[in-house]
Amino acid sequence: MAKYTTLNIRSNEGYSAEQVIDKTITLGALLEAVQEAIEEHGEDTPVILNEGQRYGANYGFLSQYEQLFTTEPECCTTCEYELDYEGQEICPQCGNPTD
Ligand SMILES: [Zn+2]
Repeated sequence: MAKYTTLNIRSNEGYSAEQVIDKTITLGALLEAVQEAIEEHGEDTPVILNEGQRYGANYGFLSQYEQLFTTEPECCTTCEYELDYEGQEICPQCGNPTD
């Protein structure tokens, strides 16, 4: 087992989730990468984060005291109304299709 494995991340890429340009990595891709890392290093290997910057405190961790995943609500593309549930097709505010 490795001493730890490093999850290389890019932080400070936007002031909101929408400003983050690269949304390539999905939960499925992340799961696949985690499974590969487990096969290579073992499931008990600690995970450390690395921001990859040249200066400053580049390393971090995933806190066991915080929720790992949160989601942002979907909004109507016409009026920005926050939709009541995921996949809602008609906006209750403006009546337009939500996508
Ligand atoms: Zn709307």
